[in-house]
Amino acid sequence: MYDCIIIGGGPAGLSAAIQLRRRNRSVLVVSNPAAQNPLSKAEKIDNYLGLPGLTGAELLERFQQHAEDAGVEFKTGRVISTMAFDGWMLNVGAEVYQAKALILAAGVTRAAKYPGEQELLGHGVSYCATCDGMLYRKKPVVVVGRSADAPQEANYLAEIGCQVTYVSPQQPKGLNPEIPYVKANRLAVEGEGSVEALTADGAKLPCQGVFILRDSVAPTDLIPGLETEGGYIKVNRHMETSVSGVFAAGDCTGKPLQVSKAVGEGLVAGDSADKFLD
Ligand SMILES: Cc1cc2nc3c(=O)[nH]c(=O)nc-3n(C[C@H](O)[C@H](O)[C@H](O)COP(=O)(O)OP(=O)(O)OC[C@H]3O[C@@H](n4cnc5c(N)ncnc54)[C@H](O)[C@@H]3O)c2cc1C
Repeated sequence: MYDCIIIGGGPAGLSAAIQLRRRNRSVLVVSNPAAQNPLSKAEKIDNYLGLPGLTGAELLERFQQHAEDAGVEFKTGRVISTMAFDGWMLNVGAEVYQAKALILAAGVTRAAKYPGEQELLGHGVSYCATCDGMLYRKKPVVVVGRSADAPQEANYLAEIGCQVTYVSPQQPKGLNPEIPYVKANRLAVEGEGSVEALTADGAKLPCQGVFILRDSVAPTDLIPGLETEGGYIKVNRHMETSVSGVFAAGDCTGKPLQVSKAVGEGLVAGDSADKFLD
């Protein structure tokens, strides 16, 4: 059991983590690989105080090193669900982690849901191949590949005996060549009460399971009851969200979407989580 788990290893999450370590709290940062962080795509950051001229990747590397030196623990992976139970339980793939407090620092979630996705979530729609794959052995499933690791997840489903079709807008890298691939962009999940098919650019692919694998999960899907405003997580000046023991910082709380604001909010969220833990 950690004192605090932070979802997102960007500037906001790392700043919060360092602040919590300064208060001697145990902290785990769970995040997608650093190479996928939006900051690592920035050619040059010129408006971060005191460190002009670094590339985004260099700045992130410095933040990361600082956090490691402070004793922050890291887990590379995607948080796909949480449950309020004796604090918070988090599913990272098939693994479970627990903490007394949570900080959401997951950046901006850009993906819109597909028609039918929300209605059939848990009734054939899943966000985790390793968690739910066994339920679909010998059954037809479709993997919607929207993350870098989606081909590996599809390969895993095929290995355990699922009849996999892979759908994505671009030819995937690393997909088992025996898995049929369908190039498509407009998708809809169909079924009455449970999944019956995925429609891909108008073509119907009959299936019993649809694995939708994206890099991020909407915060409102992670934390039921979380209030938002204009598409961002609603927070007060203490970075408290509408859910007790859950704090948020950085791009996920709204504009300006900038490193300095993310770092500042991370510090406040870390401090507030520390007070909550008291
Ligand atoms: C090309 C580009 C140039 C930019 N240039 C500048 C600039 O010059 N100056 C400036 O100040 N800002 C700039 N920015 C913006 C800056 O990158 C962001 O404001 C900043 O990274 C936000 O930090 P954050 O910690 O809130 O979120 P992020 O940096 O987005 O970090 C969030 C992390 O959480 C991960 N994550 C999300 N959901 C989950 C989940 N469920 N499980 C695990 N991990 C998850 C994400 O993959 C990501 O790695 C630029 C951005 C881009 C894309």
